[in-house]
Amino acid sequence: MTTPVKRAFKYRFRPTAAQAAELERTFGCVRKVYNLALDARATAWQRGERVNYNATSAMLTEWKRSDAFDYLNEVSCVPLQQSLRHLQTAFTSFWDKRTSYPRFKSRKKSRASAEYTKSGFRWRDGKLTLAKMAAPLDIVWSRPLPDGVEPSTVTVSRDSAGRWFVSLLCKDPTVEPLPKRKTTIGIDAGVTHLLTLSTGEKITNPRHELRDRERLAKAQRALARKQKGSANRAKARVKVARIHARIADRRHDHLHKLSTRLVRENQTLVIEDLAVGNMVRNRKLSRAISDAAWSHFRSMLEYKADWYGRKVIRVDRWFPSSKLCSTCGALQDTMPLNMREWTCACGATHDRDINAANNILAAGLAASVCGDDVRPQRNPPSGQSSVKQKTQPVRGEVLAL
Ligand SMILES: [Zn+2]
Repeated sequence: MTTPVKRAFKYRFRPTAAQAAELERTFGCVRKVYNLALDARATAWQRGERVNYNATSAMLTEWKRSDAFDYLNEVSCVPLQQSLRHLQTAFTSFWDKRTSYPRFKSRKKSRASAEYTKSGFRWRDGKLTLAKMAAPLDIVWSRPLPDGVEPSTVTVSRDSAGRWFVSLLCKDPTVEPLPKRKTTIGIDAGVTHLLTLSTGEKITNPRHELRDRERLAKAQRALARKQKGSANRAKARVKVARIHARIADRRHDHLHKLSTRLVRENQTLVIEDLAVGNMVRNRKLSRAISDAAWSHFRSMLEYKADWYGRKVIRVDRWFPSSKLCSTCGALQDTMPLNMREWTCACGATHDRDINAANNILAAGLAASVCGDDVRPQRNPPSGQSSVKQKTQPVRGEVLAL
């Protein structure tokens, strides 16, 4: 018997003017608390002390009592506490060398969001009311929530294009493991293609991406021509943000469909790892998929593999997947980026990316057999502990699958 998976359902919503004002205030306070706590932690660090979550929580109580930050009392305390938890998580992944040192949140650059746990919202008859609000949110139910499902955490956000979103984290009993398959696949994040599979299939960016990019460039040029501080400039900026948002949405959608398909079709999936902490950037190697999108895609593969009883294996990113002949195993000395096809001394002719995908697959399967340097599955049978297991709950987002 498996416990239901947690998954996030994300929707647009239309706030009233009062709700929008309340949320903007909350976003501001969430950011303020995060930055204050980050500052406190950084200062303590210089003195050789560590400040943990509980200590920042006590600080929050003090800040709320002070005249300077009196305004923190105007909003719900739940998102403020959550903000401190997020900072704790950011530090944990920094200490685990998975991310760089936490940065201050800026009003302009950071995504405006607030997270509410159970005590910060009411869920009744399919209506969601947040703390400090009289009326429920007017959610656009673009797809139904499965029957009997209730949110345990709610995240409200607004993007730079001015669109409002609410994400409901729920236990979903309708997700069940799929029947086992024998197929395995290696996935290479390509230089010219989005992804290349060991089966020989090459996946490109969605067709509209290029056109959207041209529109973006045009809108950015228009923005640059507008006078600073003018109303037209503000309008042009929103236009740029809208195009950015659309590109991101479409890419997100594309990666969702792709990851669902690959997880459904294959029992074992092998991917390249990406250690953000110690990344030695090779500037020449600009991938068709950005590092951010790639890490997002891998997390999609991983949580979906968890849902459906599949396995994802990571191999070291610096494994020489392009230089190795997948037929005879000979290592080539050099492999210039512009060499798309090559012939090995053994006589085998390779497409560069397909060869790389095959090597990734072989390395993953070999490691899996030997138990060598393999990241364990996220949910080992209870009682077993695994070294590299993540402490964070798995968070899936469901968008038009
Ligand atoms: Zn060879």
